[in-house]
Amino acid sequence: MSGEARKIRLIMDLRRSGVTDTRVLSAIERVSRDLFVPEPFLDQAYENTALPIGQGQTVSQPLVVALMTQALELGDRMKVLEIGTGSGYQAAVLAKLCRRVYTVERYKALLAEAERRFRTLQVHNITAIAGDGSRGWPEQAPFDRILVTAAAERMPSALFDQLAEGGVMVLPMGCQGAEQEVQRVRKRDGKAEVERLFPVRFVPLVAGDLPE
Ligand code: SAH
Repeated sequence: MSGEARKIRLIMDLRRSGVTDTRVLSAIERVSRDLFVPEPFLDQAYENTALPIGQGQTVSQPLVVALMTQALELGDRMKVLEIGTGSGYQAAVLAKLCRRVYTVERYKALLAEAERRFRTLQVHNITAIAGDGSRGWPEQAPFDRILVTAAAERMPSALFDQLAEGGVMVLPMGCQGAEQEVQRVRKRDGKAEVERLFPVRFVPLVAGDLPE
């Protein structure tokens, strides 16, 4: 099957699994996932599975990327913070749907690779840094939307503080090896309104010093 045919099959799969937002489907269609996966996994780039990207991390399953993006309710003027750049795939999808993406990754090697991909693809509305994303990016706050792509055991309060009034944060919550779920947190009158969305499995959000 050709790459194009695999991609179409994936989009149909996402539709069947509840991704109804056509802007999200179109963004997924326009970002070539094969540029974000390591060479040995190229033939699986359009399978609906998570794939290893090095440093024990993974690029999320396309369905999870699509559902979390949809849950964010993005608008094209919005400023978005992503925690956990990883391969850069999710950031590239977000970049199609908003004004600017700020993304933070704790592994410098992953960040460098992701930035190289953004340049290759000529995506110019992503700003990336190495750092502990659980602290957010205070210099750039507030953000209209925040997407966390690693599982937090507790609601990261620094991130909620950096969310604009009326803003939305989508994040996987829960411990490693235990049940995790994606939650949507809306900031209303400074308070958090939490909705539980769907079960997931993510690598942990690791706070503190950066690895080499
Ligand atoms: N969004 C990524 C998938 C991320 S996997 C993609 O599209 O490929 C989760 C990522 O979060 C990993 O790369 C991991 O290193 C990173 N991470 C974990 N804890 C972090 C933290 N405190 N700050 C920044 N990045 C973190």
